[in-house]
Amino acid sequence: MDKKILLEAKDLYKSYGTGEGKTIALKGVNLRIYQGELLVILGSSGSGKSTLLNMIGGMAKPTRGEIWVDGEDICRFNDRKMTSFRRDKVGFVFQSFNLIQELTAEENVALTANKQENPNIVMDMLTLVGLAHKANKYPSQLSGGEQQRISIARALAKKSTFLLCDEPTGALDYETGKQVLMELESLTRKYGRTVVMVTHTKEVGNMADRVIRLQNGSVVSECINEHPVAAQTITW
Ligand code: ADP
Repeated sequence: MDKKILLEAKDLYKSYGTGEGKTIALKGVNLRIYQGELLVILGSSGSGKSTLLNMIGGMAKPTRGEIWVDGEDICRFNDRKMTSFRRDKVGFVFQSFNLIQELTAEENVALTANKQENPNIVMDMLTLVGLAHKANKYPSQLSGGEQQRISIARALAKKSTFLLCDEPTGALDYETGKQVLMELESLTRKYGRTVVMVTHTKEVGNMADRVIRLQNGSVVSECINEHPVAAQTITW
C-alpha cells in the first residue's frame, strides 16, 4: 500500500548573509514526510538540520524551492497564512522546552490546545505523557525530563498534522533523554502520529522508520529501517 505523503520539499536552498559572510545552509534538499512515520534527520552540528526543520515547520522561508502540503506550496504563503499553517498543522518540540515560566504545566499545554473535538484534551495529553499529577506545577518545580514531556504534551494537544522535534533529548541527561525517545516512539507506534526528529546522535536513527543524513546542507543518504529497534534498547 502506498503511504500518504504529508509534505514534500523540493530543491530547497537557504542562504544566510551576503558577500564574504554568506553561508549556504541548504543546497538543494528534497524531502518527503509520510503519514504515521518516525523520521529521523541526522547530521553533525552545522549540517543544516535546524534550518530544514524551521522551513518545513513554516517558521522560515527558503531562499529558493517549494514545500507542498495539502496541495499548496507553503513557501508562497503570506504571513497570515503562514501563521495559520503553524497554528493548525505543526507541533514543535524544542531542545529548550520553551515553556512559559509564569504558567503551570496545565496552562502551558492549554495555550495552544485545540479543544473543539475534545474539551478534555489538555488533561488527556498530560495523562498520555504520564504527568497528569503534576498539572498544577510550574516549570521551575519540574525536572528537565518532565518539562520536555510537558512540551511534547503541548505539541500534541494541538492535534497537529506532524510533530517536529529539534534535538528533543539535547538538554536532558541520558536516562531522561531515553524516556523522551520512548514517548515519541509510542506516539507513532501506538497513536499513529507523524514524528520528525533532528539529532546529531546517530544511534537514535535505529528507532526510526526512515533516516535521512544531512551533510553540509545536502542529503547524502536515505535509509529505510524495515525493523526499527525499540527506543528502550538504544544506547549512545
Ligand atoms: P544544525 O542544526 O545542523 O546545527 P543549522 O541549520 O543551525 O545546522 O545551521 C546550518 C548553517 O547555517 C551553519 O553554518 C550555521 O552557522 C548557519 N546559520 C544558521 N542559522 C543562521 C542565521 N540565522 N544566520 C546566519 N547563519 C546561520
